[in-house]
Amino acid sequence: MKKYVVVWGATFFVVVCVSLYLMMETVSTNMGKSQDLDARLVEDKIARIRSDISKNQQTIREIKDYVRSMSQGDKSVLNKLQSVLDQQEPEVKLDDLLNVNKDKVKDTDNTALVFHPKGGVKLSGDTCSLAEGPNPKSDIQMLRVYENLKFENPDGGAWKQGWRVTYPEGKWNADNMLHVFVLPHSHTDPGWVKKFMDYYTQQTKPILDNVLNFLAADSRRRFIYAELSFFSLWWESLSADKRDTTKRLINNGQLEIATGGWVMNDEANAHFAAMVDQLIEGNQYLHGVTGFSPKSGWAVDPFGYSPTMAYLLKRSGVSGMLMQRVHYVLKKHLAKNKNLEFMWRQLWDTEGSSDILCHAMPFYSYDIPHTCGPDPKICCQFDFARMSPGPYSCPWRVPPQAITESNVAERTALLIDQYKKKASLYGSNALFIPLGDDFRYDKANECERQFDNYQKIFDYLDKNPQLGVRAKFGTLTEYFNKIHELSGSQPGSKPPDYPVLTGDFFTYADKDDHYWSGYFTSRPFQKQLDRHIETNLRSAEIALSLASVYQEKHRLTGFPVDQMMQLLVEARRNLGLFQHHDGITGTAKDFVVVDYGERLLTAENNCKTIIAEAVAFISMATKSDYKQSRFFDFDEIRKSHDSLIKRNVLQVTTRPSSVILYNSLGHPRHEVINLHVSDPNVEVTDSQGRVISSQTDPYWTEPTTMSEGRFKLFFVAEVPALGITRYQITQKERGSHNSLSKVTFYNSGEPSSDSAFSVERKSSVEFSLENLYLKATFSGTNGLLKTVMTKSTGDTHRSEVSFQTYGARSGKERSGAYLFIPDGPAKPLRVSHPVIRVVRGPIVSEVSVFINHVQHVVRLHNTTGLDGRSLDVFNLVDIRNEVNYELSMKIITDVQNSKQEVYTDLNGFQMIKRKTFDKLPIQANVYPMPASAFIEDDKTRFSVLTAQSLGVASLHKGEIQVMLDRTLNQDDMRGMGQGVRDNKPTPNRFRILIEQRSSPPVKDKLTGFPSLEAHLSYLQLVHKINILPQKSSVSMPPLLSQHSFLSVPLPCDVHLLNLRSLQKSYDGPITRGDDSALLLHRVGVDCGIPNTDLQCTYTQGRVRLRELFSDALGVREIRRMSLTLLHDKGPTSLDSDLTLDPMEIYSFKVKW
Ligand SMILES: [Zn+2]
Repeated sequence: MKKYVVVWGATFFVVVCVSLYLMMETVSTNMGKSQDLDARLVEDKIARIRSDISKNQQTIREIKDYVRSMSQGDKSVLNKLQSVLDQQEPEVKLDDLLNVNKDKVKDTDNTALVFHPKGGVKLSGDTCSLAEGPNPKSDIQMLRVYENLKFENPDGGAWKQGWRVTYPEGKWNADNMLHVFVLPHSHTDPGWVKKFMDYYTQQTKPILDNVLNFLAADSRRRFIYAELSFFSLWWESLSADKRDTTKRLINNGQLEIATGGWVMNDEANAHFAAMVDQLIEGNQYLHGVTGFSPKSGWAVDPFGYSPTMAYLLKRSGVSGMLMQRVHYVLKKHLAKNKNLEFMWRQLWDTEGSSDILCHAMPFYSYDIPHTCGPDPKICCQFDFARMSPGPYSCPWRVPPQAITESNVAERTALLIDQYKKKASLYGSNALFIPLGDDFRYDKANECERQFDNYQKIFDYLDKNPQLGVRAKFGTLTEYFNKIHELSGSQPGSKPPDYPVLTGDFFTYADKDDHYWSGYFTSRPFQKQLDRHIETNLRSAEIALSLASVYQEKHRLTGFPVDQMMQLLVEARRNLGLFQHHDGITGTAKDFVVVDYGERLLTAENNCKTIIAEAVAFISMATKSDYKQSRFFDFDEIRKSHDSLIKRNVLQVTTRPSSVILYNSLGHPRHEVINLHVSDPNVEVTDSQGRVISSQTDPYWTEPTTMSEGRFKLFFVAEVPALGITRYQITQKERGSHNSLSKVTFYNSGEPSSDSAFSVERKSSVEFSLENLYLKATFSGTNGLLKTVMTKSTGDTHRSEVSFQTYGARSGKERSGAYLFIPDGPAKPLRVSHPVIRVVRGPIVSEVSVFINHVQHVVRLHNTTGLDGRSLDVFNLVDIRNEVNYELSMKIITDVQNSKQEVYTDLNGFQMIKRKTFDKLPIQANVYPMPASAFIEDDKTRFSVLTAQSLGVASLHKGEIQVMLDRTLNQDDMRGMGQGVRDNKPTPNRFRILIEQRSSPPVKDKLTGFPSLEAHLSYLQLVHKINILPQKSSVSMPPLLSQHSFLSVPLPCDVHLLNLRSLQKSYDGPITRGDDSALLLHRVGVDCGIPNTDLQCTYTQGRVRLRELFSDALGVREIRRMSLTLLHDKGPTSLDSDLTLDPMEIYSFKVKW
C-alpha cells in the first residue's frame, strides 16, 4: 500500500506536467488569427490545468504526510487516504481535460461550438435539506397572513386603524395585578434633517447629560438608549467622575443600552455584512468603556423589519427585541389574536435555535400619544413635555395637566384605562409603555416634568392596589424578564403559549395605500457608493490583519500598523453611520446627504490607503524593502463624494510595469481583469513569467469617440485564495498574444477613422455575442437584449430587457423619499434609434446602448470562470432633467413562475418567497433587493444579482423589474421636509444568471436558496479583485510573484466574512490589539441546481482551523465567541474538524 501511494502520487504529477507542456506545444502550432476564440479556450484550459496541478500537488503532499504517519503506525490514515482520493473530482482527470481541449483546437467554427462542462462540486447532506426539507414549524406565517388578509381599512374610532378596545371590568385587581413598565426614551437620528454633529452638539449631548443627572438623582428612574455613534462622542467628553457614574447607571440597570449598534440600522437596504460591522463596532466600544453587553434590541424607527436583524441580535446574545413600524393592517391582525408578541424564527431554522422574543408595538407611532393606549387624545395628556409653556402641544387640543393631589385620582383612572385597553391586546399581565419621541429630554425642565408627574401616578397606584395596576419606570429587559417570571420561563426561552412567527415585515405602510417602498431606491448613487465602500472596507480589514500579524510574527518593523488602524476605525465608523435608517435609505435632507457622502469618501480613501500599504508590504520579497506610499497606486480614483470612479492609467513602457492583484476571498479567483493603459500594444506576463493572452479595447470619451491616450486592457487573471499575484505589463509593438478588439456600430454612429482598431458600421435586425457558455441575441434596432441561449442545453431563453417609467399620483400626499405612490402602471421608455456600439474581442465582448436617461451595457466574458456563466449588465442612469419621474429596468422571461411568486433577498443573507397580490397596489408589491432576486419554474431559474440595493418587483408572470432611480418634486409628509431632487449620474451593476434545475423546487417552500454558482458569482460581482498598479518610474524592489495566506482554500460554501483587527483598548489613542476576530459564514445553497467547473471543494461544513491559515501566520489559539465578540464560548480545538452549519455565521477570537 505504502509503495503504491508514493508511486501513484509521483506518476500522476509527472503525467500532468508532461501533458501540459505537450498541450502548450499543440496550442502554439495551431494558433491562427481566425482562431482567437479557440486559442482563448485552450489558454483558459491551460490555466485551469495549472491550477489543477497545484491542487494535485497539495493532494500529493497530503498523501506523503499520511504515508509518513502510516510508517509511524497510525492505522486511521488508511481511511483518510481513501477520503482524499475520493475527494478528487472528475474535473482534475487529465484525460478528460486533454480530450476537451483537443476538440476545441480542431473546431474553428465559433458558432457551432457547444461547450460540455465538466462535472461540478457534488453537494449533499445538511445544506440540501434546507431547500428540500420542510418549512420550520410556525404559528404565524407572514406569507400566509398576506394571502388571507383582505387589507381593508375601516375607521376604528379613537384607534383609527384598530377597533374600539374594551376589557372586562375588574379583570385586573389587587389579586391580579397588571405590571406596567414605563420607559423614557429619546429617538436620536445620527443625521436626518440635521447633520450628525449638529444633532450631537445641539440636542443629543444635552439629552445624555440630562439622563445622567436625572437617573443619578433617583434610583427608581430608567432610560433606554441605542445609538453608540452619539454615545461614543458623549463618552469622550465626560470627566472621569461622570464616566464612573454612567458606568454605574448602565451596570445597575437604570440606563439600558439596547442593541448597542453604531446606529439603529436600516433593515431593507443594509447588507448583513455592514449590519454586523456596525453592530460589532458599537458593541465593542460599549463593552470596552463600560463592560456592559446589550440584552435587548430596540428598533422603533426602521421602516420595516427583516428577520436577518433578529438573527444577528440572537447570535450576539440578545434575547428580546422590540419593533414598531409594522404595516397597520398586520398590527391590527396580530393584535386581534393577541399575537403582538411572538418568538421570531428564521425561515430555514427547523430546530428553533434562532428564536428570539419579539414585542411589536400596536399603534401608529412611537410617540407618547400612540404608546399609552388606543386613544391618542388621552395619551397626549400624559406627555408632560406638552404642558404649557413649552415647545410642544397636543393637536387633539386637550393639554396635559400637572399631577397634583387634587387631580391624581382622576388622572390616574384616565391613564390606567388606556393601559388596561393596551394590555388587553397582549397575552400577559405585564405591559410595556415607551415614553418618548424624537430628540426628547433635551431640556432639564422636560425631564423634570416627565419623571416627577409619572412618579406621582406610580406612587398613587402603589397606595391603591384595588386599581389593579402596579406601575414603575422599567427598562425593556426588566419588562421581558417580567414576562418570563409571570410565565415561569427562563430569559432566552419561549414563554409557554407564545406563538412562533416566520417571515418578515416588508413592505411597510403606515396608512391608506402609503407604502414605504420608495426608499428601497431613493438616492441610488449613495446606495451604490455604500456597497462599493463596504467591500473595500472588508478588503482593508483583512489586508491590515494579514500585514500586521505577519509583521509581528516575524518580528519586523516598518509597516505602520497603528496609523493604518486609526484610518480603519474611522472608515468603519463612517460606513457604520451610513447604515442608519435615514442614511442608506436616502431619506435625509440634501445637505445631510452631502455630509454622509463626505464621510463615505473619507472611508473609501482610508480603505484604499490601507489596502495599498498592506498589499505593498505583503508583496515585498524582502519585507525591509517596504517604504510607505512609495510603490503602488490604488487603481480607482474618486475625486469627490458624488463623482464617478475614474481609473488609474498605467503608463506602459518597454520595461515591464508590475501590477499586484489582491483577492480577499477565501477561494481562488479565475476571472477577467480590466486595467487602463497608455498604449494599445502591450504584452501581459503572469506570475510565472509566461506571456498570456490579452485584449485591448478603445476607451470611449463619447459614444462614438475614442481616447487617444487611454485604452482598456483585459486578461484572465489567476489569484490564489486570500492572496496576491503579480502581473507585468510591457509595451510591445506587435504583441503576439495581444488582440485589438473590433468595433461595430449598428443603427447609427459614425465610425471614426485612423485608429488602431477596426471599426465598421452595419444594420441588422439582430446581432449576437457569445462565449463558452452563452449566446446572447440583441435587437439591431434598439440594441437591447432579447434572448440568451445556454449552450450546455441548447435552450434559448427569452430575456427581453426594456426600460419603464412611473409618474407620481396627484393629490395631497404624493411620492417622496419614503413613499412610492405611482400614477398607474409603468409606461415603456421610448427608445428611438440609439447609438448601438458593439466591441468584440477574444476575452470580452460588449454591447453599449445610448438611450435617453441610460447608458446600458451588456458584457460577456469568455472564460471558464464564474464570470463566463452570466451576463454582466451595467447602467449609467441620469434622470436629472425630469420631474416626478421614476425609471426601472424590466426583464421579461419565459419562466412560468406559478402564482406570481418571486424570491428576493433580505440583507444579502437569505432569500424569501414573495407573491405579487392583485388585491394590493403596485407599490405594495415592491420589495427591497440588497443582493438578488429570482423567479423559477420546474426547469429554469432566472436570477438577477445586484451590486447595490434597489427596489424590485415581479408584477407579471415571468417578469423582474428593478427600480433604478427616482426624482420627486415634493415632500411626502413624513418629516424630511423636501423632495428628492439631488439626483446624480448613477452607475449600477447587475449579473443575469440563467440556470437549469435538475429537479423541480419543493412546492410551498417559504424560502429560497441560491445555487452554489450563483452564490460564488455574487461574491465575485461584489468583492472585486483589488488592482494595484505600480507608480510610474518607480524603481521596484523584488516582489513575490504569488502568495496565499491560506494553506487550503475555504470550502465553496464557506465565506470569509471578515478578519477584523480588535482595538487594544478604549482608553487613549486607537491602537491595534494582538487578537483578531475571524468571522466565517457558511451559506445555504439549493442542491437542485447542478454546478460546473467550480474551483473549490465541498466538505459539508468541515473546516480545520489550524490548517486554514498558512504557517506564515501560525494560529496559536482560537476561541468561539458570540457574534459581536462579547460572550466567550470557550476554546476550539485547532486539530480536529470544526463543523459549520449552513446559514450560520461564526465568530472566533484568534490568537496568532
Ligand atoms: Zn429615526
